[in-house]
Amino acid sequence: MDYGFSEEDEKFRAEARSWLAAHAGPRLDRRAWERALGAAGWIGLGWSEAGHGNRTATLTQQVVWAEEYARSGAPPRSGHIGENLLAPTLVAHGDPAQKRRFLPPVAAGEELWCQGYSEPGAGSDLAAVRTAAVREGAHYRITGQKIWTSLAHEADWCFVLARTDAQERRHRGLSFLLVPMDQPGRIEVRPIRQLTGTSDFNEVFFDGARARVEHVVGGEGQGWRVAMSLLGVERGVSTLAQQIGFAAELAQVVETAVASGAVRDPVLRARLVRQWAELRAMRWNALRTLGGTTDPGAPSVAKLLWANWHQRLGELAVQVRGAEAAVGPVDWSVASPYATDADQHLFLFSRADTVYGGSDQIQRTIIAERVLGLPGEPKGAV
Ligand SMILES: Cc1cc2nc3c(=O)[nH]c(=O)nc-3n(C[C@H](O)[C@H](O)[C@H](O)COP(=O)(O)OP(=O)(O)OC[C@H]3O[C@@H](n4cnc5c(N)ncnc54)[C@H](O)[C@@H]3O)c2cc1C
Repeated sequence: MDYGFSEEDEKFRAEARSWLAAHAGPRLDRRAWERALGAAGWIGLGWSEAGHGNRTATLTQQVVWAEEYARSGAPPRSGHIGENLLAPTLVAHGDPAQKRRFLPPVAAGEELWCQGYSEPGAGSDLAAVRTAAVREGAHYRITGQKIWTSLAHEADWCFVLARTDAQERRHRGLSFLLVPMDQPGRIEVRPIRQLTGTSDFNEVFFDGARARVEHVVGGEGQGWRVAMSLLGVERGVSTLAQQIGFAAELAQVVETAVASGAVRDPVLRARLVRQWAELRAMRWNALRTLGGTTDPGAPSVAKLLWANWHQRLGELAVQVRGAEAAVGPVDWSVASPYATDADQHLFLFSRADTVYGGSDQIQRTIIAERVLGLPGEPKGAV
């Protein structure tokens, strides 16, 4: 399949490539990098509305930008939660004042966001959230705990799913609140040390934290509708960018296998070929569904495929190195109990792929019920 980039797209590619070549580098300060991207107009290309300080681009140009970004070796984005999750949700459900207040700083790379959904006891079963937001005059007073909150330690704001009506149960009585993170004594962020040795996510404790009444998105009690629409945000373009990163990782694993001689092992060799073929298939699938699909199972099928593919790649990354991969580069100068190299990090971090964004089991339940029409899971059985 030829995706068919036009002359305009190729001009856009040249602009993106030369800007990234001039500005990107692995060791940049992450906040300064977000501001540089914003100032050059590279944030918010995919929003369905322009005029918030962003410029919009066609779908193919978004693909081009994502491809060039992945190829450039630029650092991972700290602003992706604001840009790709919050902003499209505000465009769809925010009132004009909320759009005016929150979209320009996201487009400028000035304000970073985190996602306050999961709680101990409310992960896959998100409707079990217990964090409470009680109206007190012009504010809500928030009490409770979130967990696994990625980038909370860097974020300026958090969108929080909280219960505003204590009388209601499950999906009803929830609201989607925009909460400033800088509230000493009322919000505490505790990093969670992962088995990679790094801390990418956190526990967040709310003890009387405040959110302004006008910062409820979609209206009080409408939180479930807004929260679900955020989870359904189109991921076609970012999937393609992710696959370019995967291709680079696979190329690295193949290189290691050639260097170590592991490639002569017929079993490892066959598994490397399988990874390559499956990545091609995932790419065609992403291109096929780019711009939307009416297939209710498509996002779940895509998530199951890439998460398991990436986990298998992590396993291969260490297996092609043999026993040597089990020994870490010991670096006593860092606080981490052990340092990991790129292959070890890939192996360890990819364990999480089948959990976040909806676990494998949850995706299979969605496919069973919505695509295959199998009987629904008995409620309250787990
Ligand atoms: C790297 C990473 C980053 C994350 N970032 C964020 C973030 O920024 N913000 C945020 O809010 N959350 C975040 N999360 C949390 C993530 O959304 C949850 O981990 C996920 O929803 C699963 O919930 P849980 O961890 O509570 O596991 P549980 O829901 O307790 O599940 C435990 C196990 O039971 C299985 N299970 C649960 N229910 C069923 C069922 N009905 N049928 C069959 N099996 C079932 C699951 O598949 C899983 O294997 C992140 C998680 C990870 C790993």
